Amino acid sequence: MMAEQIIDTDGNYIEHTYARMPLVVERARGATLYDTDGREFIDLGSGIGVNALGHGDEGWIRAVTKQAGKLAHLSNLYYSEPGGTLAQMLCERTGAQKVFLCNSGAEANECAIKCARKYSSDRYGPGRSAIVTLKNSFHGRTLATLSATGQDVFHQHFAPFPEGFRYVDAADVESAAASLQEGGVCAVMLELIQGEGGVVPLSEEFVRRVADICAANDILLLADEVQTGAGRTGNFLCSEQYRIKPDIVTLAKGLGGGLPIGAALFGEKTAGVLGAGDHGSTFGGNPVACAGAAEVVSRLTPELLEQVRKKGGTIRRTLEGLKNVRAVYGMGLMIGATLREGLKASDVARRGIEQHQVVALTAKGNIRLLPPLTISWEELETGLERLSACIESF
Ligand SMILES: *Cc1c(COP(=O)(O)O)cnc(C)c1O
Repeated sequence: MMAEQIIDTDGNYIEHTYARMPLVVERARGATLYDTDGREFIDLGSGIGVNALGHGDEGWIRAVTKQAGKLAHLSNLYYSEPGGTLAQMLCERTGAQKVFLCNSGAEANECAIKCARKYSSDRYGPGRSAIVTLKNSFHGRTLATLSATGQDVFHQHFAPFPEGFRYVDAADVESAAASLQEGGVCAVMLELIQGEGGVVPLSEEFVRRVADICAANDILLLADEVQTGAGRTGNFLCSEQYRIKPDIVTLAKGLGGGLPIGAALFGEKTAGVLGAGDHGSTFGGNPVACAGAAEVVSRLTPELLEQVRKKGGTIRRTLEGLKNVRAVYGMGLMIGATLREGLKASDVARRGIEQHQVVALTAKGNIRLLPPLTISWEELETGLERLSACIESF
């Protein structure tokens, strides 16, 4: 199908919940996308941090197709091998004790919220149910995870929202600490780097303080690593870089390498809290998605993670040298850049596609880069040349 026809059909039949950019992709390899006219684009977004191994990775394709040919879906009423294997790999990698498998980041966070409330209700009875989240956070699009999201723009139109969320400002450590100790709180949920919020890393001081208060008050620490996890920041978990051991870590995005998957990783306190019938998901632990995710996890070796950190350093230095870039943030291959006053990130991203054959993301007015973790040095160089030219062309 021609590009115009694809755009027309989409416009006529897909509900318009996305403001799409003018790019129609037919196929992709590595960190290169090919549009319907055969033009190639360097992909610095990897489907919002999903295609961790790049596009068309042979090992991933083999794992997924082999499993699809054997058993594509079973339901959680019976046993099959891939889910347990993946869960074991995740536990061995992170020190978690148990895993709940689902299909998306929002679902993983829903599970974390339910688990935190049940933990508290089992131990302390009703009433200690509040979950503290951060201003400028993003936790998903379901009603509860929207409620957890600390941005007012997400709290319109859909009221009533589930109750029991309190927002604190990570920039104000003292008032956040006070709010946590007010009572009635069962958990804190945070992104260590606020991805949708503009790629804003939390300060170590803030995270340390929150972790200490949580430990002292039996408040659970939930790390939403849906975007930061699975190697993105140069460690398997970003929590490792902050030297914290959350009670629940949620993963999704890059974990599946391209198929939908989510996971809630339970630590010592939270393993076993959810029992039979407390939670579930028809597609959760889907064998094909799990086989793909197991391939992703097995490929996130120390060598690859070192490359992630190195390539991230190269991106940062390049962006820092541009006259239209004011500041650069992030870790590993999760990088944000604030542009000079008056220059809109969305205009840069659009021009990148229309004139420079490079795909970059935006987040809250910033440029956001989440290239495949396996991006080659050659693709990275080309992508950065194109992106730099694009940013400096304004
Ligand atoms: C993307 C994201 C989510 C939501 O994930 P979905 O798979 O879209 O439901 C939640 N939390 C964070 C930090 C995210 O980046």
